[in-house]
Amino acid sequence: MHIDVSKMITSLNQRIAKLTARNRSGRPFRRFLSSLAALGAVSLNSSGCAEADNDGYDAELKGGREEERTFSKESALLLESIKEKGVRNEKVLRALASVPRHRFVDESFKQNSYDDNPLPIGQGQTISQPFIVAYMTDALNLQGDERVLEIGTGSGYQAAVLSRLVKDVYSIEIIPELAARAKTALTACGIDNVHQKVGDGYKGWSEEAPFDAVIVTAAPPTIPDKLIEQLKIGGILVVPVGENGEVQWLLKLVKNADGSVSKQTLIPVRFVPMIPAASDRK
Ligand code: SAH
Repeated sequence: MHIDVSKMITSLNQRIAKLTARNRSGRPFRRFLSSLAALGAVSLNSSGCAEADNDGYDAELKGGREEERTFSKESALLLESIKEKGVRNEKVLRALASVPRHRFVDESFKQNSYDDNPLPIGQGQTISQPFIVAYMTDALNLQGDERVLEIGTGSGYQAAVLSRLVKDVYSIEIIPELAARAKTALTACGIDNVHQKVGDGYKGWSEEAPFDAVIVTAAPPTIPDKLIEQLKIGGILVVPVGENGEVQWLLKLVKNADGSVSKQTLIPVRFVPMIPAASDRK
């Protein structure tokens, strides 16, 4: 997604003011914490993500634990805001609660990990806004035993969230450096059901097809044919479609038994454009 820095800072400040006010009044936050506890949400303290292994390991580990504590409060507030914005699927919320987003963002943006904003991850790309991650995940109607294809691994965060909800995630990234960094973050979180490939998402992953669901996290100008082809009958494809710089719409497609697709237009979104494969560039 695109970043408008001045807008982002204004919205950050507004959000901080709102959260501070809410924290002071205490009630909604406590109510949300108890509802999360009722859900059995996994706390970030038990996320299982390894700390960097180096000479200052003890200090680092201690700092890491403090950090997880700080972030677990911020994560709870973020989940509350996602719920307020309309995603109420408990399984999806629990999956988000169990993935430490700060492990997937650049060090320099760590403090903003639990703001409901996209953040830069290098190479001109971004980690998606948490609400959008929750919304798209919810739209896939996952039951637990699916094999899901993701286009645009990026930071690996969306793949990590999906990994908590399905059997296997197959994720394709066109920029090798991002794929490598995502792999490190996913491994550090002990996630072993995300299978990665560096390549062109327009082609899908024919060796592993068909998929129960496909999620595209960069915007193509039109729906890529191959991704519909690689979808099972009854499968769902969620994709933001639109030209770069124009409004993109999040579409949900269901593949019918006769091979046709039913299309539903969900919400307007702003994603980074899907990069055409080198061979297709003009
Ligand atoms: N799902 C990611 C969001 C990343 S942004 C996350 O959770 O962080 C979109 C990603 O799509 C970028 O990393 C970009 O490099 C990748 N991308 C763009 N065009 C692509 C293509 N044709 N094939 C595969 N990945 C692509």
